Amino acid sequence: MRFYDIIDKKKNKQALSKEEIDFFIKGVVDGSIPDYQISSLIMAIYLNGMNNTELSCLTEAMAYTGDVLNIDKLFDNTVDKHSTGGIGDKTSLIVCPIVSSLGLNIAKMSGRGLGFTGGTIDKLESIPGFITDLKEKDFIKQVNDIGFSLISQTGNIAPADKKIYALRDTTATVSSIPLIASSIMSKKIAAGDSNILLDVKVGSGAFMKNIKDAKELASKMVAIGKNLGKNIMAIMTNMDEPLGYNIGNSLEVIEAIEVLKGNGNKKLTELCISLATNMIVLAKNISSKEAKKMVIEAIKSGKALEKFAEFIKYQHGNPEIINDYNLLPKSKHVYEVKALKSGYISKINSEEIGKIANMLGAGRSKMDDKIDYGAGIVMHAKVNDYIKKGNIIATFYTNKNSVDDLISEYNKAIKISGYKVADPKMILGYIKK
Ligand code: URA
Repeated sequence: MRFYDIIDKKKNKQALSKEEIDFFIKGVVDGSIPDYQISSLIMAIYLNGMNNTELSCLTEAMAYTGDVLNIDKLFDNTVDKHSTGGIGDKTSLIVCPIVSSLGLNIAKMSGRGLGFTGGTIDKLESIPGFITDLKEKDFIKQVNDIGFSLISQTGNIAPADKKIYALRDTTATVSSIPLIASSIMSKKIAAGDSNILLDVKVGSGAFMKNIKDAKELASKMVAIGKNLGKNIMAIMTNMDEPLGYNIGNSLEVIEAIEVLKGNGNKKLTELCISLATNMIVLAKNISSKEAKKMVIEAIKSGKALEKFAEFIKYQHGNPEIINDYNLLPKSKHVYEVKALKSGYISKINSEEIGKIANMLGAGRSKMDDKIDYGAGIVMHAKVNDYIKKGNIIATFYTNKNSVDDLISEYNKAIKISGYKVADPKMILGYIKK
């Protein structure tokens, strides 16, 4: 078999066989296929898609080429949640400690920034000392000891995804239904959780721009999970404007802590309460009313915040950041973005805002780029807020010396009108089978 012929076949819109897909994934993992050829096939898949049989073969090849963890056999009462990615999506940092503080085990593998979105691992690594690449035995011990560990895709778990994910990040090939579905589901299968909540983001700051595509992605992932006996559901949530006010790694850690302290942005808090409630319903089979009450109490009592501190400490981070945000990395320069006219913010192009945050230093544009953990954006005005010409609508944090072009891009990404728009709904639907 020649890899060149496989690329050529997908370029010509033909379906790949199981043998060809297995050959591809084996070559990704053993290093026999060079990055330029992998990237070329990824682009062909991005452009020409895959049918359901190809998607199942790809997902299973990615899941089983590597180690399988069997989380559901290692621990009782586990639950996982995985987002398809969005701007300012710091929900894992909030819902995981909430759910763990309520007695469920979180043994989770998360990703780094992808495309114009951030990643939970980069956010956690902005905490001084925090380690995400734990050895398997340390990961297991931590979950047994405190019921909560969150690690990067270390060791040999879904190694093909690790490689393909990093290549997609820098080759503009992220927003593809088969590539996202296989990436997420291969990790879930290799990790071995049985209770899984998928958060499929929809809107200008997500990879799925409309509800039709989001439903297709959600249905495909749920079908793959159900076929393998998983207790899985998807929730489709709004990503038309960035989640909360902060975008960028340490800035998002701060905002997540504020939610856990009970002082968070209302929409972000409500979304996290919904996600945590659904995780508990999935794992415990109790009513959502009862689960929601427990979640609200976990925040109010400070139990969830305590769990977050315990988790940071266990993974060698400094838990004092919770009381002193000055201990987190800060970029050298601060710039203000001022409104160019008066009116209501009626629309935000969130993908553009994500790209600006990345260009300020919060993300990567090449695989080996170093992240500036303090870089990013604090938004001061969101949809339906009234602003006057000259008001500060955002603050940029960066190590760059000049950002005039990015300030002008930010102004272009915010639409200001003379009217308010309908308040965006956060939960857009569920896919349960
Ligand atoms: N999260 C993943 O793990 N993979 C994707 O492709 C998108 C989001």
